[in-house]
Amino acid sequence: MNGKPTPRAAGEGSTRTRLDRGRGALGPALELVHTGRAPTRAVLTAELGVTRATAGAVAAELEALGLIRVDARPGAAAGSQGRPSHRLRLAEDGPVALAAQVHADGFRAALVGLGGRIVATAPGCEIVDADPAKVLGSVVDAGAHLLQQTGRHCVGAGLAVPSAVAEPEGTALNPLHLAWPAGAPVREIFAERIHAAGITGPAFAANDVNLAALAEHRHGAGRGARDLLCVATGHRGVGGALVLDGRLHTGSSGLALEVGHLTVNPEGRPCHCGSRGCLDVEADPLAFLTAAGRDPGPEVSLLQEANDLIRDQYADPAVRTAAEALIDRLGLGLAGLVNILNPDRIILGGLHRTLLDADPERLRAVVADRSLWGQSGGVPILACTLDHNSLVGAAELAWQPVLDDPLAALTAR
Ligand SMILES: [Zn+2]
Repeated sequence: MNGKPTPRAAGEGSTRTRLDRGRGALGPALELVHTGRAPTRAVLTAELGVTRATAGAVAAELEALGLIRVDARPGAAAGSQGRPSHRLRLAEDGPVALAAQVHADGFRAALVGLGGRIVATAPGCEIVDADPAKVLGSVVDAGAHLLQQTGRHCVGAGLAVPSAVAEPEGTALNPLHLAWPAGAPVREIFAERIHAAGITGPAFAANDVNLAALAEHRHGAGRGARDLLCVATGHRGVGGALVLDGRLHTGSSGLALEVGHLTVNPEGRPCHCGSRGCLDVEADPLAFLTAAGRDPGPEVSLLQEANDLIRDQYADPAVRTAAEALIDRLGLGLAGLVNILNPDRIILGGLHRTLLDADPERLRAVVADRSLWGQSGGVPILACTLDHNSLVGAAELAWQPVLDDPLAALTAR
């Protein structure tokens, strides 16, 4: 011992330092309640590693900001151990984030509260216009209408697009299944539309599968995973994402995990990237419908058509054979990713989730047979569990400044 007081001991005697520590704990505390990891004030106290007085002050401040509710009377939660504690809930009438998603078959706007809760949603299925400004204008109008209807305060807006989004520019580099020009400045256009609609708060944009992975990590099938790999089909094509220690791994310029162009069938069909047999064209809804000998209908979403076919007609030999071919190709792709990334969990979305549900043993066997680490460890492969996970993830982008510093984000307006 050198006789100097430890920082913690120094703080106990100083009101100023205690307040500073409380302020610093607001964000972490909100994130714990947001992700369901602090159902009571006692758990919050333990998770934050602060005194009960500090945790009480932090919870009270978050309640004053309209973000959470602290039950006035402590009560033991069902099945909990130890003494009763105040229950913490997210405020049901609190602020929301405006989330928007554009995909090959249309767009959707939603209002999403803390906890990944979708408060209101408005689908807009139409041919997606070749001018991104038109589409983003429509989806923002739909979102603005939802805000008007509900009268909720908006913390900001997030947009999910079916394209890699280059950072720091916020441009959609390969919106191949939309008729948008490559490199369209989607974040800038989205932000302009948001502000033109009189909506407050910052505006963000990112790849739809990245956002799905982020949402699943915080609220769904990815909770608790340290190296979470997500692979999913959108309405067209295949995307991937990696969440490391709770943060999206996006690479040096936002373009990491472009898994759609892994070759899984060297003799396969030509891909728009110039190669052949990529996951993108061998394991997406169109590939499945074609393999099953179905003519993709012009008016229905390809994703929905493929999902319905597998769920309702799996006994049909043509459907089953096509599904097995896709499972084998997907398994090959996943095996390569397992060898490279060594994830502790894989989650599958879109059509891949339906394929997993249809024949989980087959997919797990292909991954185990074809991967080094899959053989030894057996990486858990699970289905995504959230409805509209890309939308929820888009909202997470808008919520992030609030999660980082609730006081600054909600009072600086
Ligand atoms: Zn390709």
